[in-house]
Amino acid sequence: MGERTRRRFEVSGLVQGVGFRPFVYVTASELGLSGHVANTPAGVVVEVEGDPRSVQDFGRRLSADAPPLAQVTEVRESWCEPVGGTGFAIADSDSDRGQGRTLASPDVATCADCLAELIDPDNRRHRHPFITCTNCGPRFTIITALPYDRASTTMAGFPLCDACRREYDDPADRRFHAQPIACHDCGPTMELVGAGEAVTGDAAVQQARELIADGRVVAVKGLGGYHLACDARNEQAVAELRRRKRRGDKPFAVMVRDLGTAAELVRMTDDERRLLTGTRKPIVLLPRIDALAASVAPGSPDLGLMMPYTPLHVLLLEAPGPDALVMTSGNRSGEPIVTDDDEAVLRLRGLADAWLRHDRPIRVPCDDSVARVVGGEELALRRSRGHAPLPLALPFDVEPVLAVGADLKNTCALAAGRYAWVSQHIGDLDDVATQAALTASEQHLEELTGVRPELLVVDAHPGYRSVAWAREQAAGRRVRTVQHHHAHIASVMGEHGLGVDAEVLGVAFDGTGYGTDGAVWGGEVLMAGYKSFRRVAHLGYVPLAGGDVSIRRPYRMAMAHLWSAGIAWAEDTAAVSACPDIERRVLRHQLETGLGCVPTSSMGRLFDAVASILGVRHVVDYEAEAAIELEALARPVPDPAAYTFGLELSAAGLVRADPGPVLVGILDDVRRGTPAAVVAARFHATVAELVRDLAELERGHSGVGTVALAGGVFQNTLLLTTTIRLLEERDFTVLRPRLLPPHDGGIALGQILVGSLS
Ligand code: ZN
Ligand code: ZN
Ligand code: FE
Repeated sequence: MGERTRRRFEVSGLVQGVGFRPFVYVTASELGLSGHVANTPAGVVVEVEGDPRSVQDFGRRLSADAPPLAQVTEVRESWCEPVGGTGFAIADSDSDRGQGRTLASPDVATCADCLAELIDPDNRRHRHPFITCTNCGPRFTIITALPYDRASTTMAGFPLCDACRREYDDPADRRFHAQPIACHDCGPTMELVGAGEAVTGDAAVQQARELIADGRVVAVKGLGGYHLACDARNEQAVAELRRRKRRGDKPFAVMVRDLGTAAELVRMTDDERRLLTGTRKPIVLLPRIDALAASVAPGSPDLGLMMPYTPLHVLLLEAPGPDALVMTSGNRSGEPIVTDDDEAVLRLRGLADAWLRHDRPIRVPCDDSVARVVGGEELALRRSRGHAPLPLALPFDVEPVLAVGADLKNTCALAAGRYAWVSQHIGDLDDVATQAALTASEQHLEELTGVRPELLVVDAHPGYRSVAWAREQAAGRRVRTVQHHHAHIASVMGEHGLGVDAEVLGVAFDGTGYGTDGAVWGGEVLMAGYKSFRRVAHLGYVPLAGGDVSIRRPYRMAMAHLWSAGIAWAEDTAAVSACPDIERRVLRHQLETGLGCVPTSSMGRLFDAVASILGVRHVVDYEAEAAIELEALARPVPDPAAYTFGLELSAAGLVRADPGPVLVGILDDVRRGTPAAVVAARFHATVAELVRDLAELERGHSGVGTVALAGGVFQNTLLLTTTIRLLEERDFTVLRPRLLPPHDGGIALGQILVGSLS
């Protein structure tokens, strides 16, 4: 026997549930090394022994050749005394050792190997709706605790049959130590209920498909909750689902059978095709060329498409039968997605005609992610399935901390050391069910990360439900507040890895956020670092009369803007004629007396106002609806000339951007008969030029040449791309949201970073 050495490797990162131990086993075996590997709460620990060159080689391959879904963040290496022995073992999980944390994997769409088996009549998993392997399948939504083993998933109740056990135990098999594997003999069972006698197994899927082809709505239990599914080409079915869900005009997402179907419906670049078909399979917003049923996405220039991401979806979309399904979250408007089977029958009664379900429990709700490609790069619009609970790296160390986000499109985030874990999309906190979902998601995240927060960070809005929630949960722990737009900017700085002392010019354009002066902010330019910010410019204040009413009725915002600009309410202005006489009198009284009015600098509301003035939309069903239609109108217009904001400088050095001159220009155009599309395009150019001009002005004072764009208004791709282009033409470095959404679903990270330093 030659010289032997033994080394211990402690590997941390995303290394459980991704085939890491099998990879270690195979690598060690190839190199003729003995030893063992085990999962610990801190990650994976390996000891290898043998020829020193091979041991060294093993150390190199451990990080260099890790399996595709693994993310190795650190490998700590130490010497051990050789103990001899032959063979390499995968030890049982050791939940007692280790103080660090391991990272759970997100859910992964079914891989190509599993898909091939699914449709292979000779394979023993032919048509098995739960086919999965080391490289794909459910993770986040089935893990109940770490370390990740079958016993700590919702598959615990499905003991492996002999055939599955052999694959599970065979290091050469693709299913070696894959926790959620199953087959027809030992796996969960499908069941269709609600439409006559209950049927199970393949017949349940067949019948669900027939019901859908027949124009019915079927509740389908997926990875992270129930969807409501119907034939996307059947107008009657889609309109009925829209009516039942009280959905207004908010677009539905569509799942298509294959890329061929997608290509008939939308235009796609290579980047977009990659995003659509990759391992995460989010909903991708794409410019539509075919309408499908008119009620799928009325008024929207885009279609939200996704590919089947579970074996069940593949079976559901088989020919003959619809090749495109509306797949919308199984919930009533505003409630969180339903995951529990009994609750699904109860809460989706009246929405679904039948329920296609199975007996694998869902540990936490997780909606589909939504994204689009902007300038060749992904822009997250909802970061959920496929992302959660992947950690984000932080630019500096933080103590264990919880940030609770904002009230709309809520997400929360935990962080400790150099990592933050942003939760899946939770929803709007205006109902108790969503608040309960926040509690459950936060607890699950604590279980998966081991982070026990000692500090809670909340928005500065005294009326936010998330703030009340945090104060209730605090139990003596410290609670810190962070201004809303400061958090928006810090999130963008954070995801771009800017250091602790960095300073940017932050442009935060959104709908609402509580300002330090008590006004509703939303058109803000902040000179910002993580530790502090200074407001350097803002959109001029107009009265927000009656709060939410003016958010739902853009014509009121238009009239408030006209009133503030000293422009008379003329009957030939679309926004004015949209306002009933009585409401007009009340509104005038409110504006003149200030009764029920809060000043707002919201850029989102200015977009609403312009949409109404152009007659595009006077009443909205959901936030940003008017702005989305305004953008759709403006998109095809090339090279529009801009109007100009009036810029006024206060004694304190604060710039106020007065929208009055812009409104005058718009009304002139409208009276001259300029097409609404051209006016809409000119308005977009105007806002982009405002950002550029304010950035130039501030660079002149401060020398800061980095601009961070944030806030829900930048979901508008036309505005985002134009603004970036104008800034880059003047040599600014532009940072924009990518991993996290620009809207309030992205602010928890910023709250973590700001709250940890203040
Ligand atoms: Zn697979
Ligand atoms: Zn089996
Ligand atoms: Fe916001």
